[in-house]
Amino acid sequence: MDAPHLELIDLHKRYGDVAALDGCTVEVPRGSMFGFLGPNGAGKTTAMRAVFGLIQPDSGKIRYLGRGIDNNDRLRFGYMPEQRGLYPKMGVLKQLVYFGRMHGLTKGAATEASSRWLERLGLAGRGADKLETLSHGNQQRIQLAAALVHEPELMILDEPFSGLDPLGVRDLGAALKQQVRDRNATVVFSSHQLDLVEDICDQVAVIHQGRIILEGSLAELQADSPIRMFEIETADRSADWLPDEWRQRVTSNTRGRIRMQFPAANGIDPDDLLDRVRSRAEVVAFGFEPPSLSELFLSTVEADQVDQRL
Ligand code: ATP
Repeated sequence: MDAPHLELIDLHKRYGDVAALDGCTVEVPRGSMFGFLGPNGAGKTTAMRAVFGLIQPDSGKIRYLGRGIDNNDRLRFGYMPEQRGLYPKMGVLKQLVYFGRMHGLTKGAATEASSRWLERLGLAGRGADKLETLSHGNQQRIQLAAALVHEPELMILDEPFSGLDPLGVRDLGAALKQQVRDRNATVVFSSHQLDLVEDICDQVAVIHQGRIILEGSLAELQADSPIRMFEIETADRSADWLPDEWRQRVTSNTRGRIRMQFPAANGIDPDDLLDRVRSRAEVVAFGFEPPSLSELFLSTVEADQVDQRL
């Protein structure tokens, strides 16, 4: 079997009392759209910076294609840092060409690739404009183009979707997925907006307090989850019909659409649940499905916290 494209192995990094990485181990398969997800302060940026040698872990290893990683390898990567690193007063096309050349492209190839990316990201007419004259979302697109202009085989993108509207998330997500599909490239991106990126990633690793608490393909994680979500909307949009013993199962109530968590084990039958509700209220909509990514995350964090208390 092929070695993973990138591996973080038991990384530890401490800042005073804070363990930013606390035994972080991740395997990123080649050709994946890999969501590196977790709440604020979980350790995502620290792990990404470690891949680029921008911080030195206290212990642990980083492997690329099964071997140690060096600066030549890193030149073939694309990096979108959390602290965006573009020049506000430089023309957009000029700086994309500059970044392409920094990664070894000839001037002609860099110009051609930069123009192609501007077009792909819907900014073909803005090449001559200074970066600072673009909107925040469009600057974000240029930042992404700067990370991708040399067609890297491995892209590591720190919060590429932050501050983007849903259309921007969809467009940039599609541009990245195309890289994975057309070139078997690997995209690792971080986000703390789990609902926003659920449809974009096929593999995920969820980091919490410097450790991975959930990892695998999203479809497998959902299928293997020990919980199922039962969603009900009644004609009066109230929660009055809820049996007392179900009240602690409610995870959200959005304008009368009530979502509850049930254990997947014990052969739970959605028809039985529905009959129970129908005997108390008029049902207008219902669903029974695996948890969403953020529900998976919350249930895993809660289980992790219980484990830590034991
Ligand atoms: P966010 O989603 O908010 O960007 P993150 O998951 O990227 O968060 P990190 O930036 O990796 O989280 O930070 C992990 C922890 O390490 C945090 O508690 C942070 O305050 C701490 N930390 C990170 N860098 C430093 C530093 N240079 N000095 C001190 N503490 C740091």
